[in-house]
Amino acid sequence: MLKSTNKHKRGAGKLQVICKACDKKAAIYSRKEISKEVCDLYCSCRDPECGHTFVVTLAFKHTLSPSARDGKNIALEFLKSLPAHERQALLSQSLQ
Ligand SMILES: [Zn+2]
Repeated sequence: MLKSTNKHKRGAGKLQVICKACDKKAAIYSRKEISKEVCDLYCSCRDPECGHTFVVTLAFKHTLSPSARDGKNIALEFLKSLPAHERQALLSQSLQ
């Protein structure tokens, strides 16, 4: 149903919706934000003989690598990766 036209270049792919009635490309003509992680895409089949209009849901699933803008997360991940005694040592140092 959803297809990336450019799987190999990160971030450069354009989302492609495929009509489930005829397997041809559909155009996204509107989107409705449900939440920060979910939106509905209103689609219409590009094949004039088909004319199927439908809604697909696009949802965030999980993070592969955290955002570089989120410094807190990076620090947390780093702390989690340390053995407990090193983590304690680091934390007690940082509180001095
Ligand atoms: Zn169609």
